[in-house]
Amino acid sequence: MAKYVNADCRLCRREGTKLFLKGERCTSKKCAIDKRTGAPGVHPVTRKKPSEYQLQLREKQKVKRAYGLLEKQFRGYYEKAAKTRGKTGEVMLSLLERRLDNVCYRLGLGASRDQARQIVNHTHILVNGKRVNIPSYEVKVGDVISVKEKSANSPLFASIKESRVIVPKWLEFEPAKLTGKVVALPAREDIDLTIAEHLIIELYSK
Ligand code: SF4
Repeated sequence: MAKYVNADCRLCRREGTKLFLKGERCTSKKCAIDKRTGAPGVHPVTRKKPSEYQLQLREKQKVKRAYGLLEKQFRGYYEKAAKTRGKTGEVMLSLLERRLDNVCYRLGLGASRDQARQIVNHTHILVNGKRVNIPSYEVKVGDVISVKEKSANSPLFASIKESRVIVPKWLEFEPAKLTGKVVALPAREDIDLTIAEHLIIELYSK
């Protein structure tokens, strides 16, 4: 899969907000957003009043980058949401949250979505007891997400077993067993990023 390879912190600075792309660093004093202001570049272009299109584009880029997706994948979520009953923006965000890599991130199995994706790719994760190595796998209510027995004792997961992970209310997690469960579908209020999803819908529905 193609991947964005430039410095993650530049993406946050470009969007002017924390996208939490680098795990622990994001909550430390080293966070680039806390240290610097403004867009990246020696002479970043800043306009006083962005156009409607710019606002829509930036909002879309922000969410796409936060979930670590490329344009085609991200647009696919919009298209699926548009065909689903409910508010398109909210359905789209719910679908993004239900990605297996995001669920592993929310459960604390990865420090960032990127790390969680690697954990899934490297076949450490089971869904309902079966190995799933597809980061975009869409979890359903009742799904049990666990770490493969062989991987559970690796240093990668050792510290998580003793940690007190706070998970969103649509998930449950037993750190000692490295096992989580989807107890509900994610609702709009469960998504902690500040997102004006109507701007993304306006952009794509042109
Ligand atoms: Fe970098 Fe994380 Fe801060 Fe973003 S939130 S600027 S990725 S440290």
